[in-house]
This record gives sequence, C-alpha cells and structure tokens, in this order.
Amino acid sequence: MTKNKAGRVLVVGSINMDMVAHAPRLPAPGETLTGDAFVMAPGGKGGNQAVAAARLKAEVDFVARVGMRQYGGELLQALAAEGVACDAVVRDAAALPGIAVIMVGSSDGENSIVYVPGSNADLSAADVQAAAATVRAAAVVVAQLEVPLEAIQAAFELARKSGAVTVLNAAPALALPAGLLSLTDWLVLNETEAHQLAGRPHVETADLAEPVDVLAQARLAAAQLLQSGVKQVLITLGADGALLCTNEAMQHFPVLPVRAIDTVGAGDTFVGGLVTGLAEGMTAADAVRLGQAAASIAVSRSGVQAAMPRRAELA
Ligand code: ATP
Repeated sequence: MTKNKAGRVLVVGSINMDMVAHAPRLPAPGETLTGDAFVMAPGGKGGNQAVAAARLKAEVDFVARVGMRQYGGELLQALAAEGVACDAVVRDAAALPGIAVIMVGSSDGENSIVYVPGSNADLSAADVQAAAATVRAAAVVVAQLEVPLEAIQAAFELARKSGAVTVLNAAPALALPAGLLSLTDWLVLNETEAHQLAGRPHVETADLAEPVDVLAQARLAAAQLLQSGVKQVLITLGADGALLCTNEAMQHFPVLPVRAIDTVGAGDTFVGGLVTGLAEGMTAADAVRLGQAAASIAVSRSGVQAAMPRRAELA
C-alpha cells in the first residue's frame, strides 16, 4: 500500500431507492389495506456501505450506475451530502435506479419486498475500466453481489495489480466463480450466506429441541470456504458476534452488550467499519473490532443509513 492511498476506500456496488409502506399487517394477495406511514430512503448495499465508511472518516469513492429517469438525482445528492465521491458513478438518463418496494406489517414486524435492480444490473466491466484511475487510488476495494459479477471481477483485477486489499461481501448469496474468489482477500458473509456458499445445510436453533452450536457450524463453513483460496473468511453471526478465519487461526469476536432495536443494515455498517479499518492499515482484528463497534451502535437505533454512527461516537 502506498502512503497516499491510506484511508481510501472504493465501493463497487448498488444504489437503490427504498420505498417503505407501514400498515397494521401485511395485505393478503389481492387485498388493499390502508397504511399508516410511508418513507423513501436511499439504500442498496453499495450505497449503504459507502455511507457507513464515509461516516467513519474513510475517503470513499463509488463506482456504480444510477438511472436518472427518476430518483437518481436525489440518490446522488444524498451520497454527496455524506462526503461520498460520485465522479465515477455512471449516470444513465434513460434508466431507473434500483428500487426496493417494502411493505412492513406493524403487528409482527414481518415484511415483504419486491426489488427491481434497474440500472444496478447494467454496471459493466467497461464502466469499471473507465474508472481505472479511481480504482487504483484505493487502499481497499469492496463489492457486494447486487451488481454483475463481471464488474466486480474487473475491479478486483485492477485492485490486485495496484496492491489494494479486496473485500467481497457475498450478499445476497450467489454461486461465485473460482476466478473471482482467487482475486478476493476477504470474503465477508453472514451465517446463512456462509452455509449456502459452503453448500452446507443450515440448521436453525428454533427448529430443534437441542440448541445448535452456532460457532461450531460457522467454523465448519469457514474451513470449507477457505479451500476456495481466499485468505480471510469473516462470518458475521448477528448477536453471536463474528468469526474471523484464516488457514492458520480462527478468532471469535463476541458482540458488545447493547439493546438491539433494529438490526436491518447491521451487516452493511459492519462492512463499512471493517474496510475503513483496513484502509487505515489496522490489523485484521482491530478492523473487525471497528466494524463491530459501528454495528453495535447501528442496531441500537432505527433505520438503515440513519442509524450508522460517526467516528466520534465510537470513542
Ligand atoms: P443485515 O442483512 O440485517 O444487514 P447481516 O445478516 O448481514 O445483517 P448480522 O450478522 O446480523 O449481519 O450482523 C452484523 C454484525 O452486526 C454482527 O457481527 C454484530 O457485530 C452486529 N450485530 C448484529 N446484531 C446484533 C445484536 N443483536 N447486538 C449487537 N450487535 C449486533
């Protein structure tokens, strides 16, 4: 890592507008219900992680595609207001951005989501190559799986050549080509994604009379994932913390004791903290702790981006 890169994070990922309608319960098929609240908020795993890292004082660049037909201007403005540099974001005048239509039933907190990827699905290897100088300026390049794999692969190839650390947050779970895994330094996933990607059955404690040993199961999934050639596998385990695994060692990080009220977006906040720490040159363990500290604050507040803490709050 060269000195002038320290602290610079490049996010390659999705940008969405989330449209959330709250009603007393979810409607049945064909039913119309009167709701009690409606909120529109910027989202997408790429946008969320960019904001999480920027609030923690990383210098963040973003490579993405945003449809400008509607909402694109607001989404870019919101990122700029957080200090995320969007010079390398391709504006597509004819397309819609990613849109998630979310219905929440207040009685039980259940939700139903329709996600339309929009311009996120059009991010290409050529878009990434056009932003090669921005990719090369980063200490850490992070991607999630809401944009095409060819774009991520192109970014990681450039990152490898420039000596940047590559972090792949394998969410949502998808089969990953060996070529992409061989370019990945850190594979970050939650428990469900880890078991899916490792091809292991995932047993929920709630389904059994005897509790499942979550950590033991995660260790087995991690051991399998390490065989793909990635150097670090980090599995987040919700209230059970996180497990960092390399071929040499496995280390468990229990969570900080907090009263969790809304865990949606915890994973994105965690990744934002992790990549900020790595870009600053922290040890792996300290970068994980930074991610955990940020996520523990985020789960104690409601909202996704709205709940993400600033660096000063992590004292
Ligand atoms: P989401 O999809 O909702 O963004 P995720 O499933 O990707 O989340 P989790 O494994 O649920 O991610 O959580 C990520 C991290 O957030 C955990 O490793 C932990 O540090 C923190 N976290 C999550 N839930 C809690 C909790 N109840 N109390 C404290 N910390 C939590």
